[in-house]
Amino acid sequence: MTASSTDWAETGPEKVADGIYRIPLPLPSDSLRAVNVYAMLTHQGITMIDGGWALADSENALSAALGQIGMGMEDIRRFLVTHCHRDHYTQAIAIRRKFGPEVAIGIGEKPNLTQVISDASRARRPTSARAAILRRAGAIALAHDFERTTGQSSYAAEWELPDRWLDSGAQLEAGDWVLRVIETPGHTRGHVVYHEESSHLLFAGDHVLPRITPSIGYEPTQARYPLRDYLSSLELMLTLPDALLLPAHGPVAPSVHARVAELLDHHSQRLADACSAVGRGAGTGLEVAQRLTWTRHERSLGELSISSQVMAVMETMAHLDVLALQGRLKSAANPGAIVRFQPA
Ligand SMILES: [Zn+2]
Repeated sequence: MTASSTDWAETGPEKVADGIYRIPLPLPSDSLRAVNVYAMLTHQGITMIDGGWALADSENALSAALGQIGMGMEDIRRFLVTHCHRDHYTQAIAIRRKFGPEVAIGIGEKPNLTQVISDASRARRPTSARAAILRRAGAIALAHDFERTTGQSSYAAEWELPDRWLDSGAQLEAGDWVLRVIETPGHTRGHVVYHEESSHLLFAGDHVLPRITPSIGYEPTQARYPLRDYLSSLELMLTLPDALLLPAHGPVAPSVHARVAELLDHHSQRLADACSAVGRGAGTGLEVAQRLTWTRHERSLGELSISSQVMAVMETMAHLDVLALQGRLKSAANPGAIVRFQPA
């Protein structure tokens, strides 16, 4: 079985290596369509990479897919989660409550998970760090719309801390496989990938996606330079032996290195585009985002949904901050104020 380019999100297990299955799980009205979790079958039970979003449909799909490979939910021994986003983490917690497997995630996600749990327990909106970036970008109205329209989206019941925090470089045995935890900050500050070197497999989470470019730094506590972190995490992948790309969204792809090269090209082009927009007079993150085009359909910023505009402006700020860091632009701001960029 191999998923063609269009049917990767269809329900059911796809064998990606002996004893390892990709299982796409549904997401609610999400442009990502589905999230892939991976089941590694061992004599000590199943090691799952990522857990999916805690939803009844998703749990049913996982249970049915495990049934197709002769397993059940009670066989899951642990979840190794790549990062704290809800579509990867929350179902691991839900299944832990019912069946008791261990849940582990990178130590770098501790600030994010602590913040989410604290926001959720106080029914506080989880938008403030992102709204602060929008204000730095001069997108005051968008920040307002975002805070007004984004409900309290962290339900306290979905979130708990993991059993175990993983350090970068940790080696985890799963049957005959050995998974090495590699910290890849950028998409979130504590994102990790799991590398199985002898089988040439990389469980890449949202770090390297085959079709789309991952969002950068969309998380409850902000890293100062998420794009700088992301680009070095991409370059780190090129120092490892090449591997089969097992992404969290999209089909399996033959080469991590080939896709990383494309993502690095994409960002260097976006950096160049943002730099030249400033050269042509755009001064703030919002003004630059308005001069760039978005999605593969080349839409203008105003044609996007509010949540996509938020991500677009945040991503533009991440690019501008890197350009200033690289000395290609100058920036000036008082703390808490709108940042203005100029050619260096
Ligand atoms: Zn994610």
